Amino acid sequence: MVLNDIFYIEDIGQMQNFAKKLSQDLKAPLIIFLKGDLGSGKTTLTRFILQELGYNGKVKSPTYTLIETYEFNNFIINHLDLYRITDPEEVLFLGLEDIMNAKTITFIEWPQKATEFLPLPDIIIEIISDKNNNSRQIKLSSKI
Ligand code: ADP
Ligand code: MG
Repeated sequence: MVLNDIFYIEDIGQMQNFAKKLSQDLKAPLIIFLKGDLGSGKTTLTRFILQELGYNGKVKSPTYTLIETYEFNNFIINHLDLYRITDPEEVLFLGLEDIMNAKTITFIEWPQKATEFLPLPDIIIEIISDKNNNSRQIKLSSKI
């Protein structure tokens, strides 16, 4: 199934609601690309999804570590942020084949930094932010 949809988000509360709805449909294995400018809300959305899935700890941005991993009972969430890589080949050192498996849901911020070394995504989420307020447009495309 190919699903293409646009969601109109007015504020951060609606982003949390969107995360809640989306998290109900997430079943490993999945690869999710997160696109959008700096500050558009990619990390915020991932944080909300982790919280909806029951994670109570701190969710920090993987900007410096490149990857953060969260273990749940039956699945694992990988959260990557490739913003800081300067050469696409840097993702090869992450050993993605070992990190991604049947039990993982992997969110990748800035996938366009290394598209040629990444697997194809199941879902692409693009967040378009309005510089003047807290509203966002979310373009969701999915092949599942
Ligand atoms: P990114 O990971 O895309 O660079 P972040 O999630 O780190 O962006 O930052 C988004 C910022 O915008 C946060 O400070 C967040 O509180 C704020 N914000 C305001 N309104 C929204 C919204 N509707 N959705 C997501 N983030 C929002
Ligand atoms: Mg981020």
